Amino acid sequence: MDQGNASVKIFMYHRVVTEDTPFVLSKHKNTGTTVSRRMFAAQIERLTERYTIIPLDDALAILKNNSPIDRAYCVITFDDGYSDNYHNAFPVLQHFGATATFFIMGSCLVGSGYIRWLDEYYYMLDQTRVTATLLHMKGDRFPRLISPRGRWERRLTDLVRRWPHEDKDALIAALRVALKVDVPRNLLNSQLYLSAPQIQEMHHAGMTIGAHTMTHPFALGHLPAETARQEVIRSVDVVRELTNQVYVPFAYPWGDPASYNRDIINLLKEIGAECAVTTAPGNNGSDTPPFELKRIAVYEGTEIQ
Ligand SMILES: [Zn+2]
Repeated sequence: MDQGNASVKIFMYHRVVTEDTPFVLSKHKNTGTTVSRRMFAAQIERLTERYTIIPLDDALAILKNNSPIDRAYCVITFDDGYSDNYHNAFPVLQHFGATATFFIMGSCLVGSGYIRWLDEYYYMLDQTRVTATLLHMKGDRFPRLISPRGRWERRLTDLVRRWPHEDKDALIAALRVALKVDVPRNLLNSQLYLSAPQIQEMHHAGMTIGAHTMTHPFALGHLPAETARQEVIRSVDVVRELTNQVYVPFAYPWGDPASYNRDIINLLKEIGAECAVTTAPGNNGSDTPPFELKRIAVYEGTEIQ
């Protein structure tokens, strides 16, 4: 009997931008996961030479059956559902005849008026004319001196990303006052994120749509159980309603092993999610659990191997 040697690499992208992609390239932001459209095109060209790019579904079948393979297979994925995926990544993928999976945040669809706290935060830092202010943060005895032109902003994101949403929301509200910025919610929402018609167009063109929670909480595994359940169930429902896909793949926000747990995996299986991807690096083989698929992050300077 054939001994399978199934192996599939799953590559992970976030945003693909050009110089005029609105509100994406904040001068304060850690743009480490952002790739320029020009570099993206070069990387996809290289991927098509080096690999056979397959849909996530096909990768699962290869891994599940431990199929003998005679070529290198890979899957391309995108996290977070920013509109630059449609404007910059989708046309390049189509040009090269490549397929990909897009993991979207259910709350962010255009028209909801919802903005991810990080996006609001960077917008305020970019727009403010305040050079320094005092802000009292949860857990601190004394107010902190904040200077939006300094290097404080990166420390803040590291500090608060683990906070529950209500604490982050309170901080953002305090910053709005301290930094004296009006946030044009609907404008940001409509420019930053994918719309339902864009998602449907990509799906009709052969792309797979996956769920990435509703609001991108720090770690599903650390949320109150019912909150985590709602983040998962509702986001999978959003994808089903948009695409009629029976099986909906899922991507864990942040994606390290601490960000999910057995209960989340069991819930995903129960609601008919097909598989889930993490951010643990590495190849996938027949022994990789389908709800803990590994991915290789691609950055601007990544050499495709
Ligand atoms: Zn994400």
